[in-house]
Order: sequence, then C-alpha cells, then structure tokens
Amino acid sequence: MSRWDWLTAALQRLDESQLRRKQHASRPLPNGGCERDGRRLRDFANNDYLNLAGDERLRAAAESALKDNGVGARASALICGRTPWHECLEQRLAAFERQPAALLFPTGMAANVGTIAALVRAEDVVFCDRFNHASLVDGCRLSGARLRVYRHDALDKLEQELTKASDAPRRWIVTDSVFSMDGDLAPLPVLCDLAERYRAELIVDEAHGTGVFGPTGRGVCEMMHVEDRVAVRIGTLSKALGCLGGFVTGPQVLIDYLWNTARTQMFSTALPPAICAAAVAAIEIIDQQPQLMAELQSRVASFHEQLATHHLAVPTSARGPIVPILIGDAARTMNIAARLEERGFLVGAIRPPTVPQGTARLRVTITLAHDDDAINELAAALAETVQTGAA
Ligand SMILES: *Cc1c(COP(=O)(O)O)cnc(C)c1O
Repeated sequence: MSRWDWLTAALQRLDESQLRRKQHASRPLPNGGCERDGRRLRDFANNDYLNLAGDERLRAAAESALKDNGVGARASALICGRTPWHECLEQRLAAFERQPAALLFPTGMAANVGTIAALVRAEDVVFCDRFNHASLVDGCRLSGARLRVYRHDALDKLEQELTKASDAPRRWIVTDSVFSMDGDLAPLPVLCDLAERYRAELIVDEAHGTGVFGPTGRGVCEMMHVEDRVAVRIGTLSKALGCLGGFVTGPQVLIDYLWNTARTQMFSTALPPAICAAAVAAIEIIDQQPQLMAELQSRVASFHEQLATHHLAVPTSARGPIVPILIGDAARTMNIAARLEERGFLVGAIRPPTVPQGTARLRVTITLAHDDDAINELAAALAETVQTGAA
C-alpha cells in the first residue's frame, strides 16, 4: 500500500482507454525535421508556421541580448524584470497590431487566464465556444462569472443565452480566432454583430492567427475586417513568431488596468530579455515580408490538393495550416500516428479530453519548413495508413 495507489489506478484507467500520454524528447533538426526516440522525422506536429524558431536572424538577436542581459529576467515586470527589450517589444507589438499599447505575459496561457480573470467579474456572464482553448476556459472559470458554453455552429443558442443575460452588469463573448484542434475560423463578424446587439464585449485569442492570417499577419481580426469592433485581442509569441510569451494589445486604459490587476503577469517572472529581442526580430521579418503568409497558404492549398487526389477527406471548414484528419477512435488514432512515425512523419495525435469523445484525430500542421516534396510524401503516407485502417 502506498499513499499514491489511487494515482496508479487512475493512470491504469487512462492506459486501458488508450488515453495515457507518454513523454518523448524531440530534438529539432534543420529543415523541418526532428529526432525522436532515435528516429529522424519530418515534423508536421509543431506550430512554428513561419519556420522562425530556428531562424538565423532570431538567433542573432537572442544571442546579442543574452550577452548583454544574461538569461533570466530576475524579477517580475512590476519589480525590475522589465528591461528595455520588454519595452521595445511591447511598442513593436502595439505598432504591429495598430493599437495604442501592449502588455507582455509569460505565456499565451498566462495571458488568457490573467486577462479574462482580471476583466470578467463574478456578477458577469461569460459565453465561451465549446472548442475554445483550455486557457480561455480556465480564465472564465477563475473569474467566477456564470459560464455559458455554445457551439460555434449554433449561434442561435448563443443569441438565446445573450437575451437571458440582459440583467448582468456585463456580458463577455470569448473565442479562439482559429480553433487549435479543428483549424477552422470563428465567425467573427457574426459574433461582433451579436456583441453589439446585446451590449456584450468580445475577447478574441489570436494564438494561431497572428503571423498566419490577414494581409499583414494581424490575424483573423484583420482578415475579417473586425479589428475596430473587437474589445480585447490576445496573442502569443510562441507559434508563428517562433518564440515564447503572451500579449494583449488595446487602448492604454486597458493595458494600464491589466498591468495593475492581471495576476499571471504581476506574480510571475518577466520573459527572458533574449526572448523579447528574438520576438522583435520576428515581427520585423513579418512586417518586411508579408508574402510569407501567402506562401504558407499556398503550401496549405497544395496539401489539400494532395489529400483530395488520395481521396482523403478533411473538414472543408479547416482554412489554415492546422489540418485535422478525423479518425474517431483514440486507439486507432495512436496506431496510425505510430505507423506514420515508422515512415518518418511526426503528426499530432489528439485524443480526449483535448477533443470530445469519439473525435480523436490526427492534427497535421503545415509550415514553411516543408517543401512540396515533403508535403506530397506526407499525403501519400497518410492515404496508406489511414485507408488501410491501421487497427
Ligand atoms: C497554444 C495556445 C495558447 C497558449 O499559448 P502559449 O503561448 O503556448 O501558452 C492559447 N490559445 C490557443 C488557442 C492556443 O492554441
């Protein structure tokens, strides 16, 4: 008998339903590869959409800031962890998003949790898409507000719930702009209409939108022309920008308020200055080369064409570099992913509770690290492994 027997039992239950997560060490290799369990793989599982995490310009910026500032930030931003690099990055982020001000957080997760918990009051009602990222859900829960979950294909339900919440001091609608496990986009113009009609505020998480969507990479808000209608925009530096950290952009009063109240940045050490320097370099690259976003979309399009050639169905709603291939059963999904690894391809294998029961899937991400040959070979390997029904 040990005090942790109940944990052993819980892990066993996860094992039995094929839901236990294993740990791996994946070492990045040049040209979109990685080495994992002694095998060299083409990595179609990461979120480094613009292939910037290993970019020479980001490395040089980080190395130079590292020489001057050391590794850690030494304190929270409030105390003395905010260096000129943090200030510079916040200014660049605000300018990039064409907003008056910006605030950094340790991660995108921290930005979501901290911002929502700071803005949404316990007396408010908060409306959350069923497929929102866990960090948005956690922020809503932490706020203590009444939480209403809606399906993004059933906005009439959202509208009904909004009518019922008219007595609350405030109503908040919280959504991903790009849903991270489905690759589809939130209907932001419709959400803006609803928010305006029912006096609600819209909070949008552009984690997979920044640097991917919109003519200049400002995300789905830019692409759908709703930037002036969205109350709060949250982003991350850890995906298309290839770094680490979360951020909020908006009017100075919002940023000042979050600086004073958002606990996930107040009570956490500031980002390493070298990371901030690298993120500044990443924003400069996107500013100077908006064609990178178009290039990414053209690779996504050629992947879709290849999938169609092989008669592999993907949801037509998937619009960007995140391409889900629905399998259903968790065990079968793991099996197919393992067969793909044997053939040299790493793809995401996504199971409950990350996605609903019965909707386990492969999650393929297309990045600028993959050329047409790699994309074609992945599509062929997918066709064989999925269609021969790895059991
Ligand atoms: C990855 C992700 C986050 C968290 O960002 P991190 O910077 O990795 O903490 C938040 N929201 C969505 C939708 C994400 O996919």
